[in-house]
Amino acid sequence: MFTAPTTDSMKGRILIIEDEAAIREMLGYTLMKEGFEFQEAADVDQARPLIERQKPDLILLDWMLPGMSGVDYARRVRNDPETRDIPIIILTARGEETDKVRGLDTGADDYITKPFSSKELLARIRAVMRRSAQDRPQGTVSAGGLSLDPETFRVTADGANVEISPTEFRLLHFFITHPERVYSRSQLLDQVWGQNVYVEERTVDVHIRRLRKALEQFGFDRFIQTVRSVGYRFSSQ
Ligand code: CA
Repeated sequence: MFTAPTTDSMKGRILIIEDEAAIREMLGYTLMKEGFEFQEAADVDQARPLIERQKPDLILLDWMLPGMSGVDYARRVRNDPETRDIPIIILTARGEETDKVRGLDTGADDYITKPFSSKELLARIRAVMRRSAQDRPQGTVSAGGLSLDPETFRVTADGANVEISPTEFRLLHFFITHPERVYSRSQLLDQVWGQNVYVEERTVDVHIRRLRKALEQFGFDRFIQTVRSVGYRFSSQ
């Protein structure tokens, strides 16, 4: 089930998983000032019972953690049906640039490089939360045996469940509702990620790859077509 991130009393509950106490404190302070509720964990072991007790609306996840790494944990969160719709923002250190795309590959919705300003942090949190909840389209859509239900965030292929992350869900939803037309990477970024979000164009390719991989076992990856030097097109014909 999807948990709506906003109530009257708060903007959302955020789980911070970060081993450096000073950064945890800075994050907590920033979130609190902005009206978010938050919980802190120094590693994955501490985070687990917190998530089981109450699902957060978003996870701020440090890349380098003692014990299980943030990347491995992101993958685990994404593979668990109970937690797979929780948006994740990964915190990386400078110098991990080449690993960023890999971070997205594990299921994170975004990443932010340390050191970052509270303004940047909050902008990214808002963007990710907005993308996963408020802009969530209503009503089931389907094409050629694929079916998407934005209420439950479920995707089925000929009736079988497809494991998919929130970003791929939105991407696939956009494609299904805009079939047979070619979209450039920047058009897809505007439509699926939002116009005021800074995301590199190659991020689109990463998510297209993940989407195809999720659909591959059902033979539906062929619906996502590459149009050379232009972009992508969805066609179930
Ligand atoms: Ca760390």
